[in-house]
Amino acid sequence: MTRDLTHYSGGAHRDGTSGRFGDVYDPATGQVTSRVPLADVDEVADIVGVAAAAQQGWAATNPQRRARVLLRFVDLVNEHVDELAALLSGEHGKTLADAKGDIARGIEVVEFCAAAPHLLKGEFSDSVGTGIDVHSLRQPLGVVAGITPFNFPAMIPLWKAGPALAAGNAFVLKPSERDPSVPLRLAELLTEAGLPDGIFSVVNGDKVAVDALLDDPRVKAVGFVGSTPIAQSIYAHAAANGKRAQCFGGAKNHMIILPDADLDMAADALIGAGYGSAGERCMAISVAVPVGEQTADALVARLKERIDGLRLGEATDPDADFGPVVSAAAKERIEAAIATGVEEGAELVADGRGRTVDGYPDGFWVGPTLFDRVRPEMELYREEIFGPVLSVIRAADYEEALRLPSEHQYGNGVAIFTRDGDAARDFASRVEVGMVGVNVPIPVPIAYYTFGGWKASGFGDLNQHGADAFRFYTRTKTVTTRWPSGIRSGASFVMPEGS
Ligand code: NAD
Repeated sequence: MTRDLTHYSGGAHRDGTSGRFGDVYDPATGQVTSRVPLADVDEVADIVGVAAAAQQGWAATNPQRRARVLLRFVDLVNEHVDELAALLSGEHGKTLADAKGDIARGIEVVEFCAAAPHLLKGEFSDSVGTGIDVHSLRQPLGVVAGITPFNFPAMIPLWKAGPALAAGNAFVLKPSERDPSVPLRLAELLTEAGLPDGIFSVVNGDKVAVDALLDDPRVKAVGFVGSTPIAQSIYAHAAANGKRAQCFGGAKNHMIILPDADLDMAADALIGAGYGSAGERCMAISVAVPVGEQTADALVARLKERIDGLRLGEATDPDADFGPVVSAAAKERIEAAIATGVEEGAELVADGRGRTVDGYPDGFWVGPTLFDRVRPEMELYREEIFGPVLSVIRAADYEEALRLPSEHQYGNGVAIFTRDGDAARDFASRVEVGMVGVNVPIPVPIAYYTFGGWKASGFGDLNQHGADAFRFYTRTKTVTTRWPSGIRSGASFVMPEGS
């Protein structure tokens, strides 16, 4: 039985009226579980109108009260975490433990946003001229939009909505059409937490809805996360319409392994970071760069041994290491990339094609895949695959290993494994990548720092979450003040006597 999902606006669910729907699948069974409405231009305009009408009241609510609503929301999400994780896994395919991580990393950012009263404070300068003071205010933008990818359906919407709402904006989310149920449930919980109607909306849809948001003059800013070609085109479209935009794109994250590294630690880290969540993480490691032939041989042997013990499974299987990929199209694309790697002459050490799981013959399964002796000119190396495919590219020395991630088109995350503090420090300083891990494979910054890649992994000048998010979702007003001489010089301070 499939059910029809909705949009969410004005504190309530709202049926789609465009007549267009997209299918939502359970990736483990390969079956359609629901239909998501795809909004047309009029539906988007209505939802933005509801948001715009509500926003000024929210902006006038003092920031501490706004923060309290968010803290109540955090409690509600924690109370409902099992239900949310099951909903998330059922449309994404990731294991339940991983789904809980998706929710937890989103909630951490909302908790950080409870500091809004502090983060929104302006500056003040006394006596910049005779009797003249200057102060600055951080004011909300109005209605802002978020357009988010399938791979973190809780975390990324919350990374955007948390700071936007805390700063006094109304937020319109256009989530991925692959897994829209968690965003809809989060909208209900925000209402239950006391968020005024209209301040958080979900408009489901595809390019039509995104273009409508980008063309609506009432939408003042757009935060996007997804693949690079779409990130770049949304950035250009938003800028052409005079909107603020931050657009985060794809990745090809490298892990450098120096000869002095703890190789068991590095191999364990690579397995988790390469294959966890079926490689569908923008911070997944997809390239391992061992330095020196001996390091490479020893690393590949350890990887092979660990890959043989990995278990594919559906979300509720407690022993599953990772689940299916998100769609039949993703499976086809990943298997085609593996075939390209073979044609290009890379050495296929483990082949994840053609895998199934007992009881789930129609799931979108791709097993862990490992290539050795990959070369920088291969498409296998140049393009993002976004699946459980790890490439080993052997570097002769440290400088070559440093050049690879620095010269790659993407610059999201990178890691170095070594016991040498001097090498690690030099690497962190010189590498042309936005987020660096030292013996940490997935260096996703904690909520009070900011998250963002360089080069083709990010367009715009401010990162997600942390203090940057409050800069992105507010505009600065600077007030210069001088007062004419007042009561001090002209008026009498003596109690008048009766006549
Ligand atoms: P995607 O680009 O296909 O979709 C992202 C969003 O854009 C969705 O909401 C989708 O509906 C919308 N969209 C798709 N095509 C569009 C079009 N032509 N015009 C307007 N909107 C369109 O990405 P995805 O497959 O959902 O997510 C995977 C990608 O996201 C990977 O490339 C991954 O690296 C990237 N990602 C990046 C980060 C980061 O922080 N840099 C984080 C997570 C995921």
